Amino acid sequence: MRVFNFCAGPASMPQAVLSEAQKDLLSWQGKGMSVMEMSHRGHDFVSIAEQAEADLRSLLHIPAHYKVLFLQGGASQQFAQIPMNLLRGGDHADYVLTGMWSAKAAVEARKFTKVHVPASDEAYGFRTVPAFDTWNLSDKAAYLHYTPNETIHGVQFNYIPEVAAPLVADCSSCLLSEPMDVSKFGLIYAGAQKNIGPAGLVVVIVREDLLGQALPGIPTMLDYKVAADHASMYNTPPTFSWYLAGLVFRWLKNHGGLEAMATINRRKAKKLYGCIDQSGGFYQNPVSPSYRSIMNVPFTLMDPALEKTFLKDAEAEGLVNLAGHRSVGGLRASIYNAVPEEGVDTLVSFMQEFQRRMG
Ligand SMILES: *Cc1c(COP(=O)(O)O)cnc(C)c1O
Repeated sequence: MRVFNFCAGPASMPQAVLSEAQKDLLSWQGKGMSVMEMSHRGHDFVSIAEQAEADLRSLLHIPAHYKVLFLQGGASQQFAQIPMNLLRGGDHADYVLTGMWSAKAAVEARKFTKVHVPASDEAYGFRTVPAFDTWNLSDKAAYLHYTPNETIHGVQFNYIPEVAAPLVADCSSCLLSEPMDVSKFGLIYAGAQKNIGPAGLVVVIVREDLLGQALPGIPTMLDYKVAADHASMYNTPPTFSWYLAGLVFRWLKNHGGLEAMATINRRKAKKLYGCIDQSGGFYQNPVSPSYRSIMNVPFTLMDPALEKTFLKDAEAEGLVNLAGHRSVGGLRASIYNAVPEEGVDTLVSFMQEFQRRMG
């Protein structure tokens, strides 16, 4: 039996995708072998890889002057790879801090360059996005980095900052959750294990003119230009993760694309925040309402001593992985594309019933 899995990552995958992968596991399309046993340079895998890229391009309407790279090392490796590639002779970059992931990205960037922080909510515990008209942007930043959706704190931007420097966005937990105007960005990256596919893959979408000016001495494997020139196959890519990401892209296309996803995701989030807000304080979410994430919903119980019982009773109902991140505690429901609306409905009913029993 399948459970409703609210894990922040690695996260739930669409069941239809898993079934398709299962059907093709021993013999992909009658070829007598699994995708994970194929040469990455062979015709079959190259066609899988190209189709995945084409489907992602069509889902996000990625303009032709952007490269799509399928890389390894997770989003955390991008924290280093971005300054190594995008400083382009500049002496600093801007980093907006709205949660733990943007803060970590800034710490890593400091190994390579000066970091200027135009805006930060750290002093207030990461509960909001500082208003854009309060940002103190630097002159001639090589780029501005921000995290549109903070997976741990559940803080999500509801606007795209308009800045002169190329915009770099860590979309690990929000890519494909709704339409996005790629042309406003210099670089977008996302670790796959949240809303794309299995761990081991990170997707980078980068404007072509930003490539080819990496720091001298950069390891070959970390140079975006090398990856772009080799269609992400300078070395052996994570073929099976790439294939599964491709199945997810096709599943999204078959389900109405990102407009349809956004409608469902907004409805799911509204139900869950509604349950929290209407609980009279039994459940609480600390984030300012206009910046609440539609993907990651952290919440606390009025009586934190009930958390263990909440998690145990939820699990007994097939609602799993609801503990908050170890750094902040509390509870969290990640409700990515692959978490069906029925999962959120079941969670909301459970939360209401739990409150009746314990409140
Ligand atoms: C999960 C996550 C990361 C870290 O991803 P890894 O692939 O484990 O390195 C970075 N940024 C955001 C926003 C995330 O959600």
